[in-house]
Amino acid sequence: MNPITQLKSHLPSPLCRLGDLAYNYWWSWTPERISLFSAIAPSIWQTCHHNPVALLESTSYERLSQLAEDPQYLKRLQTLAHQFDLYMRDHDTWASRVAPHLSPEAPVAYFCVEYGLHESLPIYSGGLGVLAGDHLKSASDLGVPTVGVGLLYKQGYVRQHLNRSGWQADHYADNDFEHMPLELVRDEYGQPVTVKVTIRQRTVRVQVWKARIGRVDLYLLDADRPDNDPLDRRLTGQLYTSNRETLIAQEVLLGVGGVRMLQALEIEPALYHINEGQSAFALLEVARQEIEASGKNFYDLEGWIRDRAVFTTHTPVPDGNHIFSADMMDSFFGHYWPQLGLTREEFLNLGARRFGDPWEPFSMTVLALRLCRVANGVSRRHGEVSRHLWQILYPDRPEAEVPIGHITNGVHVRTWTAPLMADLYRHYLGHDWSLRVADASLWQQVDRIPDRELWNRHCILKERLIAYTRAKVLQARKARGEAADDIAAVDQLLDPNTLTLGFARRFSPYKRGALLFKDLQRAIRILSNSRRPIQIIYAGKARPGDDEGKRIIQRLMEWCRHPALRDRVAFVEDYDIYTAELMVHGVDVWLNTPRRPTEACGTSGQKAALNGGINASVLDGWWCEAYQEGRAGKPSNGWVIGEETDTSDQEVQDQIDAESLYSLLEREMAPLFYDRDRHGLPHKWIAMMKASIRTNAPTFNSDRMVAEYVTRAYLGEGELFPEAIVASPVASA
Ligand SMILES: *Cc1c(COP(=O)(O)O)cnc(C)c1O
Repeated sequence: MNPITQLKSHLPSPLCRLGDLAYNYWWSWTPERISLFSAIAPSIWQTCHHNPVALLESTSYERLSQLAEDPQYLKRLQTLAHQFDLYMRDHDTWASRVAPHLSPEAPVAYFCVEYGLHESLPIYSGGLGVLAGDHLKSASDLGVPTVGVGLLYKQGYVRQHLNRSGWQADHYADNDFEHMPLELVRDEYGQPVTVKVTIRQRTVRVQVWKARIGRVDLYLLDADRPDNDPLDRRLTGQLYTSNRETLIAQEVLLGVGGVRMLQALEIEPALYHINEGQSAFALLEVARQEIEASGKNFYDLEGWIRDRAVFTTHTPVPDGNHIFSADMMDSFFGHYWPQLGLTREEFLNLGARRFGDPWEPFSMTVLALRLCRVANGVSRRHGEVSRHLWQILYPDRPEAEVPIGHITNGVHVRTWTAPLMADLYRHYLGHDWSLRVADASLWQQVDRIPDRELWNRHCILKERLIAYTRAKVLQARKARGEAADDIAAVDQLLDPNTLTLGFARRFSPYKRGALLFKDLQRAIRILSNSRRPIQIIYAGKARPGDDEGKRIIQRLMEWCRHPALRDRVAFVEDYDIYTAELMVHGVDVWLNTPRRPTEACGTSGQKAALNGGINASVLDGWWCEAYQEGRAGKPSNGWVIGEETDTSDQEVQDQIDAESLYSLLEREMAPLFYDRDRHGLPHKWIAMMKASIRTNAPTFNSDRMVAEYVTRAYLGEGELFPEAIVASPVASA
């Protein structure tokens, strides 16, 4: 029996629609998301990590029967289920008007190595995954026929616990797929659909799980089958392992296996969207299948493949992690290039930065650039950086004419706006505000929101963040067995009336997570100023092998314990989508301090802006496009740390940027934040909050981003179509 039917058969019949909602992540971006499932059993909801399937399976029948007689709950459920049905059936979508030739039978196949959709599906690490998740949600809302292809990691990404000395101990927890919102895809005889991929001379069978994201199906490949060699079963074990062999094997499974899986499911994509290099092997398999079917040779087919392929690069450095040695390529593809009718040399050339150099490693980015018709970076700045990086592939063109454009990332507004803010927007922007988020005139109305209302809601969200931070820190201190005094001190940690900064991202040296403490004494003076104090909440993991990143976290933990800072600096362990959500909802200022130009785009600051958070960032990634200086009585929409160009000396640059940050905190942020009227309202600050929402929201959202992919990349038009970008109506409730 299909797991949805099975779950429904265990529910009291008035509740049976909960089964449909639990198995489609659509619920996670409705305004009802807070209470729909948590109201069933709040404590189970928490322990099962907001996984609705596990929740419904673990709730007692007694409790469910009680709910089945609660007229209010039933009415809410009925309304939501009705909206869900309308949403799933809506055919009059934006994409049906703009791209009628895309259809469920000929969809866009979107490939990515990680997906961040919700905290209950931990198969993501960070920015790339969350971006892919937001892309699928907007594709669903705009009606763009899309199937996602990815890997289902048994253990996902590393989990973070900090030990007593502040060191990140890496550990992993198994995902229990059977009790998650996933369906094992079966054939007409009830057997799991599998595809075979050759890895190191062994045949590996992968099975397929389906996650439903509104109208988009996400197919996830899983090698953990009893008929595979024990070593091969672990291929889909962990996301971003440091083992190069496992990495290439995963990329073969994703690319080659992914295309075979689509064939097995009889899905014939109109287009392949390769979202970052890890999945570029997919294009080789598309070629191989076409060679097999048509008998043509690889070079005759190259144009045909390019016409069907779109590539998005997310890396701001030449090779990132996306290169493999020729030896590894031999061992993984020795049996494969003959099937493409290529010699070893011809094959290796597909990924060589310099044509014909046998010592060149094989680059996934080069492969994708060679085989895709359209390529783009993820912000204007990153487009420039990418053209510079990859000019080597186009020696006869000046840098400005390297064929890599940009489509700037955006975030899924219906996911990342706090329901409390969404409610305010509904009131002042109109009941259908969330369907027209790419419309700048809509966001002009933010100025109509009374200062007091915006501020009150912001303060509630900030209090919620502080309560959450304390609870997480308390739990961590207890787990580490800290002294009773230190445990009790959590009650003094953070103050809701204090100017609050947030910094959350991967801890890699180039993101400079400790820049605020470059000059410790200066930082202490600024944070513990008695009239205008400042506090900061940190979160983020270091990659498992990255000791330098772990050392940065360790130093932050020292400052969390420093007598002068311990009430003002907090670190939330095990950063995930849920922590991200609370942080971007509740902070006053989102801080971003990468070394340039290493931030390809950055999206967390966009999420904060949707909720009235103000960005303070180095001019890199999206902030180069977003920042607007104040003029003619209008406030700026945030702050710039440092200057427009960098020195080449990193140490000097760090000093310049830290100095700039200190000066902003002391001379601009704190004075503005603590300048209150007699009711305690900081009107000038609130004016900046409104500027942040009004100027950022209409551009840096994933509806605009997906619409740009459709018109500019998929259809190959130069500009966005004039057709207004509108999401399917029922998502708004
Ligand atoms: C949005 C998000 C990111 C992206 O972070 P940036 O550093 O801004 O690109 C990473 N992790 C999580 C959990 C997120 O929600």
